[in-house]
Amino acid sequence: MVIYLDNNATTKVDKRVLDAMFPYLEEEYANPSSMYQFSVKSSKAIAQARAQLRDFFGAKSEREVIFTSCGSESANTAIKGVLAANKNKKHIITTKVEHPCVLNLYQTLEKQGYRVDYIGVHADGSLDLEELKDKIDDETALVSVMWANNETGVIFPVEEIGEIIKSKNPETKFFVDAVQASGKVDFDVKNTNIDLLGISGHKFHAPKGIGALYVKSNVIIPPLIVGGHQERGMRAGTENVPYIVGLGVAAELAKEALKYETTEIKRLRDKLETGILKKVFNSRLNSSISNRVPNTSNIGFEYIEGELILLHLSDLGICASSGSACTSGSLEPSHVLRAMGVPFTSLHGSIRFSLSRFTTEEEIDYTLEKLPQVIEKIVKLSPYQDELEHLRNSREH
Ligand code: PLP
Repeated sequence: MVIYLDNNATTKVDKRVLDAMFPYLEEEYANPSSMYQFSVKSSKAIAQARAQLRDFFGAKSEREVIFTSCGSESANTAIKGVLAANKNKKHIITTKVEHPCVLNLYQTLEKQGYRVDYIGVHADGSLDLEELKDKIDDETALVSVMWANNETGVIFPVEEIGEIIKSKNPETKFFVDAVQASGKVDFDVKNTNIDLLGISGHKFHAPKGIGALYVKSNVIIPPLIVGGHQERGMRAGTENVPYIVGLGVAAELAKEALKYETTEIKRLRDKLETGILKKVFNSRLNSSISNRVPNTSNIGFEYIEGELILLHLSDLGICASSGSACTSGSLEPSHVLRAMGVPFTSLHGSIRFSLSRFTTEEEIDYTLEKLPQVIEKIVKLSPYQDELEHLRNSREH
């Protein structure tokens, strides 16, 4: 039995996505760039997927859609592209809580002479917009902000950020990493100041290995991968037809499922979250209650280790994730939770639960039954018995 509550890591491929892809793996294998009749179906399939992505993004034209291999490639294409097209500007603004695919790139760019400002967040995970406003100057080539945070689900007000950027410097380009917002937020890029926006298929029930980048029609950037003329010269390499078809169908399904996501999935997430906060004396919510994508909950369990919780949950078939990343043999607490100022007492014991449209009520009930037992077991092993006793008494009275 697997109870999969780690959908921000990756998602199950929807059967309807697989069914749409299959003919392009089996019979319709032609290279879409070829001249013969056999390739027409492949090239038409790509055109259809591009139109599906245009609708998913809320873009003006399908010419604004580039297929990539993943979210990291979308981000790298956008960021390196904007900087290459504006070589005289050396200032970048981003946030302290971005995904490593963006943060690690900025650290490399700093070594190459770029000035990078990392904007902080408040205790509830929301962005310090005043700080952002102050940092934009004539030299700012790019502002790069995620739409929803992968660890906490906190949503950044990208429409408002876009307006701030263009009011301070209309030349500054705005890239949004929307990997965790896909299928959870309704995109309508044409009515915003977003110039570039990246997504990744495996976060919304398409397979791993396919992503897309929206590039506004008036934004000109060079390709990251240079070679053939695929994607109108914006991304070389023979098109991955079956996966592109899968991404198109996944995007259409995600749009259809958005209402379900924001009502039913949210109801299940809230049931899990309020249940844990009520039943487990040393639990606390890491993030704002309201301004979050509907599927994510990040909960800290004080004075115990997150990895131990995950191992016990795994024995029960429950998959979740901890905020910690294992870096060079030492357990580093999450950079996101640290930026929010989460107290050290729960920094190492924070767990992310992330649901999807395949999550059932029974799975939530089972998790709510088992998790408090797991925590009680681990609490007994903690070296902080006095602190835990004090906490238990203060929560119970
Ligand atoms: N951006 C965010 C917010 C993510 O959560 C992830 C993946 O977890 C990525 C980017 C990278 O996406 P991919 O794994 O498709 O490269």
